[in-house]
Amino acid sequence: MNGREPEGQFRELNAGRLFCSSCGRSTPVRERLLLVLPDGCLYEYRCAVCGSVTGDKKTRGAGNGGLFRGFGGGRVR
Ligand SMILES: [Zn+2]
Repeated sequence: MNGREPEGQFRELNAGRLFCSSCGRSTPVRERLLLVLPDGCLYEYRCAVCGSVTGDKKTRGAGNGGLFRGFGGGRVR
């Protein structure tokens, strides 16, 4: 790691950024705890720029792993 940044086309699938349909681009997200369930927690991701919901995540058990999906992630250009 020498500070090189990936260039060109690559898929941003990390939880830090999600595609926001309102902004039309990938934006940083803010994680917010929505619901505490008996078997896990439901988190909501909102665009840090405009505040639109861009995804959610449900954790199971002790909060390790869990399902994560972005609402805009399935869009193919
Ligand atoms: Zn946005």
